[in-house]
Amino acid sequence: MNLSTVSLLKCPICSAQMQADDTGKSVRCKGEKPHCYDLSRSGYLNLTHPKDGVGDSKAAVQARRLFLSGGYYKPLSDRINQILEEQCVHSVLDAGCGEGYYTNRMQNGKREVLGIDLSRDGIDAAARYAKQNQTGVCFAVGSIFTLPVQAEAFDAVTNLFAPCAEQEFLRVLKPGGTLILIGAGERHLFGLKETLYEDPYLNPGRADLPAQMRQIDRQRLTYTINVEGEEQIAALFSMTPYYWRTSEADKQKLHGLTSLQTQVDFDIYLFRKDPIQ
Ligand SMILES: [Zn+2]
Repeated sequence: MNLSTVSLLKCPICSAQMQADDTGKSVRCKGEKPHCYDLSRSGYLNLTHPKDGVGDSKAAVQARRLFLSGGYYKPLSDRINQILEEQCVHSVLDAGCGEGYYTNRMQNGKREVLGIDLSRDGIDAAARYAKQNQTGVCFAVGSIFTLPVQAEAFDAVTNLFAPCAEQEFLRVLKPGGTLILIGAGERHLFGLKETLYEDPYLNPGRADLPAQMRQIDRQRLTYTINVEGEEQIAALFSMTPYYWRTSEADKQKLHGLTSLQTQVDFDIYLFRKDPIQ
């Protein structure tokens, strides 16, 4: 973990600022009775508070990795990077980063990137990828509702398909900073739903948009993907909220399917933290 990113963190127990120790294998807080956190073998920090709960399971993380490695959502990743460029973002926090597919593609040698997620398996996968591919991105296990991050530390926060923790995002953004929020558009995965249901419905859109920030842009990104192979199709399906709502009889419709063509549809919202609050 690089030193400048460590200085943006705060201790989840006593809220003091963090600093790397001499060994480079752990960080400790500057509190009166310092708390010490060891870097994992893959290079992430566990900054959870005992009250934080747990994140996504290993199976969910593996399914997402399998699907995303197919490159189906690369155009979304490219669009996010383009927005970071346009907004002149030098430091970004990916809040709820999962296994870090988008996060590891954000840096490109240009900016400081920190990914935080409650799933230890997700962060471990993200950190391993970062280490192997030298993406320069740092990762920590932590809750997005109690971010282990200093106030006004980041130019931008990204929030992809994760809950919007508006108060925390406001706290950690610099004045004038940007929140980039991604949600499923109304026709997202419509082809998948046509396969599953007699009467597919349109998605309602995100209901948790920030109330105290100013919306500065809304973009839509939509295209068609061809998902190849039963395994990839099953991985995609397991990533969706429909997975939990679909009857066994309907789930059977995907068995034996080797190719699935579907529209993807992303809503991209940009919100600004006003310089004076
Ligand atoms: Zn502490």
